[in-house]
Amino acid sequence: MQRLLVLFDLDNTLVDRQGTLTDWVAEFTTRHGLGDEEQAYILSLVADRAYPSTFDTIRARYRLLMSAAELWRTYCTDIASLVSCPADVLDGLDELRASGWRVGVATNGAVDIQRAKLRATGIAERVDGVFVSKEADARKPQIRHFALAAARCGTELDDGGWMVGDNPVNDIGGGRSAGLRTIWIANDRSWPPDSPGPEHTVPHARAAIDVLLLHSVGNMRTTT
Ligand SMILES: [Mg+2]
Repeated sequence: MQRLLVLFDLDNTLVDRQGTLTDWVAEFTTRHGLGDEEQAYILSLVADRAYPSTFDTIRARYRLLMSAAELWRTYCTDIASLVSCPADVLDGLDELRASGWRVGVATNGAVDIQRAKLRATGIAERVDGVFVSKEADARKPQIRHFALAAARCGTELDDGGWMVGDNPVNDIGGGRSAGLRTIWIANDRSWPPDSPGPEHTVPHARAAIDVLLLHSVGNMRTTT
């Protein structure tokens, strides 16, 4: 039986990046003796994505003694220790593979931080493959990103599959361009008007997994 591919986005799909950042910035400002009023500014710098260069900006503004490289390394360690993946989502990844799915992670970002999060949460050991955009400068929504993620899982886009994510442009638009069916994690938002919608909209990753598990039953029926 052919194993169907499903790729998951990481941040705010499998893990709650937003909640993790809120905890982190409180620790960071306390540790460096910065006022609580600086939290919003620091959060704005790391909100979309943090890279080592982000800490050049933070270091300069607050005249911190640690180098930007040290600050970045500490950030990676801190975030890895704060981040978690819900137990029912981890179980769901196991259930998908047991039902014959190839499961992968397709994420934008820096390699060290994304890999650290995948290891710390236990996601890394539950998937067939991972692709992080900085490994080959191929960011979602570029089709090449999805092709490289599929390759990491031992398959190719021509064989079809699914993309699950929270970002309408990067995950859903990009996934569709790559020929994948899509599930959008709404996180309490409504789908932006004027753009073609996903196949399914769900409130969280566990609900996406349940949709996929139903499809795996259908898939097995049609192939036996
Ligand atoms: Mg995301």
